[in-house]
Amino acid sequence: MKDFDYIIIGGGCAGLSLAYELEIHQKLKNKTLAIIEPRDEYKKDKTWSFWKIIPHNFDDCVKKSWNNFSINVPNKTKFLECSNYPYQSIDSGLFYKKVIDRLKQNKNIKFFKNIDEINSKNSFIFNSVPQLKKNNNDLWQHFCGVEIETKNNFFDDEMMNLMDFDCEQRNTVHFFYTLPYTKNKALIETTWLSTMKDESEKDYEKQIKDYVENHLKLKEYKINYKEEGAIPLFYPLNKSESNKINIGTAGGMTRLSTGYTFLNIQEHSKFIRENLENLTKVKLFEIEKKYQFLDKIFLRVIKKNSGIMPSIFFKMFSGSSNTVIKFLSNKSNFLEDLSIILKMPKWTFIKALFGR
Ligand SMILES: Cc1cc2nc3c(=O)[nH]c(=O)nc-3n(C[C@H](O)[C@H](O)[C@H](O)COP(=O)(O)OP(=O)(O)OC[C@H]3O[C@@H](n4cnc5c(N)ncnc54)[C@H](O)[C@@H]3O)c2cc1C
Repeated sequence: MKDFDYIIIGGGCAGLSLAYELEIHQKLKNKTLAIIEPRDEYKKDKTWSFWKIIPHNFDDCVKKSWNNFSINVPNKTKFLECSNYPYQSIDSGLFYKKVIDRLKQNKNIKFFKNIDEINSKNSFIFNSVPQLKKNNNDLWQHFCGVEIETKNNFFDDEMMNLMDFDCEQRNTVHFFYTLPYTKNKALIETTWLSTMKDESEKDYEKQIKDYVENHLKLKEYKINYKEEGAIPLFYPLNKSESNKINIGTAGGMTRLSTGYTFLNIQEHSKFIRENLENLTKVKLFEIEKKYQFLDKIFLRVIKKNSGIMPSIFFKMFSGSSNTVIKFLSNKSNFLEDLSIILKMPKWTFIKALFGR
């Protein structure tokens, strides 16, 4: 059985982002890499969106970028600008093609379906398969999105809608999210923050149909694409070892209050590339502790006070949108953190701080 210097378990977003980062920085010229990925073929299965607060390698996979966004609760809408940090949507189909095409040019990189096909004893391992504990009280961000195409122009493609809370909450947190790619094509997603115990939340298609036809009042449209997912809003159990680092969701790269993961994966890949020769000595890369702490409290509030969450999110976006974007993208300074914290209902958060 063949030996490899490096093994990446899981050729999804984190595995491929890391392999690409290593490859374009010539780290795999004299080193071998095995990527373990069970899927038979790569096709578009996700849309990764985020505020572009740091550079990344995938600008050419961006399907659309927005400088304006809105957020609304019943009877109130905020329109915000984000030209300093445009909101970008990456098409996973373009991402997979770009990365695989590049990796295939290097004979030192091989793909396998199963780790048993190789000898992994002497390799450094990057693992992206999360080990998720079963706890019925953990929160998930679960959602379903469909890309619809309308006959006539309908959408304002300059303005994406981050959160529309003007919908049923069913005793948890629920909103719609609309990414208008063109005037007649948009991704419309129904998103829940919940423990997923209530099966009725999963009638996604009915929710989207109702939103499109009765809320947006669109009758003539067709569905071109659908994606579904559930992002754990808790850290997986995976532990790092002397010859193994966890990456992606498995490596704790999800910001628990938002589900945003893509840019954290890119930062982690860069960190690994820069420290490749020293990985056993450097401190593990993680989302800054202050965000882990604040997110923990925020999630407690979601669990205990789901009813006030639409107004909390709405309030968070009052004032400078740059500050909120930096906070949600782990790039805020102390004063910016403070300005967000001060917008939150004090007693609710103080009680959550003490676990009540
Ligand atoms: C539908 C969806 C939309 C999302 N949208 C956003 C977004 O807009 N913005 C954002 O920041 N984040 C988003 N996320 C969260 C996060 O960015 C993604 O989940 C991202 O794909 C995480 O990357 P990953 O490599 O950790 O996991 P994945 O991309 O899921 O990769 C894991 C890989 O491991 C493979 N695998 C599974 N089991 C094994 C095994 N036993 N052995 C080897 N390989 C295995 C899988 O086939 C997969 O290819 C989204 C998540 C989902 C599910």
